[in-house]
Amino acid sequence: MAALLRTALYRNVLTVRIPETKYVHGHFSQFGRTKFTSAQSLNDESVTVDDDSAVKHVPADSQLPALDLSFNSSKEAYRSKSTAEIARALFVFNMCSIPFLVNHNKTVLKWSRRLLGKRLFCQIMKASFYGQFVAGEDQVAIRPLVNNNRKYGVKSILDYSVEEDISSKDAKEAEMKSCVPPDFEPLRAEEASDTSPDVQRFVPHEEFGDRREGVFSARTYFYEDETKCDENLKTFKECIDAVAGAVTDGTGFIAIKMTALGRPQFLLQLSDVITSWRNFFEKFAGDKTKFSEEDFKTTLKDIGVQVTRDDRKRWFALLDVTCDGEIDLLDWDNLLDINTQMGKHLVIPNVKTGEIQPLVVSLQKEEEEQLNQMLLRLNEIAQYAIKKDVRVMVDAEQTYFQPAISRLTIEMMRKFNKEKAVIFNTYQCYLKKAYASVKLDLDLSKREDFYFGAKIVRGAYMEQERERAVTIGYEDPIQPTFGATSLSYHSVMEEIMNQINQRSRGKIAVMVASHNEDTVKFTVEKMKENNIGPHDRLICFGQLLGMCDHISFPLGQAEYSVYKYVPYGPVEEVLPYLSRRAMENRGVLKKVKKEKRLLWKELLRRVKNGELRYNPTKASA
Ligand SMILES: Cc1cc2nc3c(=O)[nH]c(=O)nc-3n(C[C@H](O)[C@H](O)[C@H](O)COP(=O)(O)OP(=O)(O)OC[C@H]3O[C@@H](n4cnc5c(N)ncnc54)[C@H](O)[C@@H]3O)c2cc1C
Repeated sequence: MAALLRTALYRNVLTVRIPETKYVHGHFSQFGRTKFTSAQSLNDESVTVDDDSAVKHVPADSQLPALDLSFNSSKEAYRSKSTAEIARALFVFNMCSIPFLVNHNKTVLKWSRRLLGKRLFCQIMKASFYGQFVAGEDQVAIRPLVNNNRKYGVKSILDYSVEEDISSKDAKEAEMKSCVPPDFEPLRAEEASDTSPDVQRFVPHEEFGDRREGVFSARTYFYEDETKCDENLKTFKECIDAVAGAVTDGTGFIAIKMTALGRPQFLLQLSDVITSWRNFFEKFAGDKTKFSEEDFKTTLKDIGVQVTRDDRKRWFALLDVTCDGEIDLLDWDNLLDINTQMGKHLVIPNVKTGEIQPLVVSLQKEEEEQLNQMLLRLNEIAQYAIKKDVRVMVDAEQTYFQPAISRLTIEMMRKFNKEKAVIFNTYQCYLKKAYASVKLDLDLSKREDFYFGAKIVRGAYMEQERERAVTIGYEDPIQPTFGATSLSYHSVMEEIMNQINQRSRGKIAVMVASHNEDTVKFTVEKMKENNIGPHDRLICFGQLLGMCDHISFPLGQAEYSVYKYVPYGPVEEVLPYLSRRAMENRGVLKKVKKEKRLLWKELLRRVKNGELRYNPTKASA
């Protein structure tokens, strides 16, 4: 009980709403005009996933190529690449297939830097790994690549990829400090063993404090202080400037991570509360989205809770925030709107003790200030993005943060996606609850009539999530097999396409962010079945720069909407990013094997046809 009490005390929760903003909307840049489909009238306000009618990307030397869904067309895949770039890609992928080099990549890089000196090292990196996976040192240097890709139908999501290379020990220390309130005392061993694994799930554990472990396809931020969060905010705003201005002419996105913008403690606490709410709700509502006082009475009886009529009525009245005689999951999830009343309302009947149990106590003044700052930073990014006509993708992270990240993103959508999808949430299909979450948020966007923007991924944290679940003892949140994850992905996409067809065009905008050919093929085929054309700009595709060009470029040249995550930053400061790329490529050998085969094929074709001097930047587009 003591442990529970302490955990309850530790569960301080938001009492602040995202601050008010002025919504600036309505102009599209010269290069980002709205595209109207035949089904839309010029009065139709709906705006689609990208507004790039000015992007001219059909190669002049051919008809629009039909999309080969086996992704075997090496000519289409590398039309945007010079022969030197093809040779570089082959070299890099071959290097990534040498286990010794990949496993010891950090040491190899460190020693190369020492032996070669800064200048030579940077030159060699630019001619190899850096050149393959990173666009350039700054917003100006990346322009040629971004513009060239765009000529071939591939747009950019800028990602400033400078990462600090802190030791695992420092990472764990930073994590333990930033995930609990300043005066938090860790549970004693006997208390911890008393506490249920579901509660422990939202408590930081030192052994999992280095959130980078086993994660290659996502970057990790550790909290230092509020100044560092302000710096991250500044960087995100600079990315918005780059996207809005010279680089992508107003057609782009930026990607942000919430853990870069505030103390992770709040994300843990809010995730804990949201999860408790949902569990409580499911007990009473089952599969329904609402339950009535009668349902409440019956379920209490069924689970054997002895309660007087007066207490039952009092409990129900406390839970029925909207006073409409029904308890609605979506209302209950609406944490930020409950605002200062939240502490009062966030209570659930403890069916074991028969008492009303608060989930919230108030935050200390300093914590409240930090939380407010985090929400203000989110707000500032959204406002700035709207002003610059750039869209914001909020990345998904670990499951102990994700309920809060997703909830806050939905709150931002509610507030900012009133005339178009500016804010995009991310859904990880390896989660058992992925389909239910997408469905819930789609329903909410319909009910409250805001634009729904989403990026759909498989998920980057599988190994870490599984190990944490087993060690702490809660249910593994991840699908049991790769096949189950793929099925989940495909059912999410089917649901989205159904809903696209039930609403006016443009109300739902989605990115399929995957390197998986079957998933891309599935999406393209389902788009056809659902009469969603590439030009409707309702569904787009996303891949990382330097990976799976044989998927991105044929899609782009067939006029599907495609984006590359484009990392940039000074050579020496993006080494941790490059290290992750090397590790990730080792893990997807089958994909790399196919890329190598296609690169060779194209190289040989150019040799045979005397096209070795082919230069895409000079080819007319
Ligand atoms: C543009 C872009 C943006 C991204 N943004 C995010 C983000 O915000 N958040 C995030 O978490 N990830 C993100 N990712 C990474 C993504 O989630 C995947 O880790 C990565 O793309 C590999 O998945 P895939 O579909 O491309 O390829 P595949 O190789 O087909 O799939 C590999 C993935 O399948 C799943 N998987 C593999 N084995 C199993 C198994 N045994 N059981 C269950 N599932 C399994 C895992 O998720 C694994 O990462 C992003 C990726 C891209 C390209």
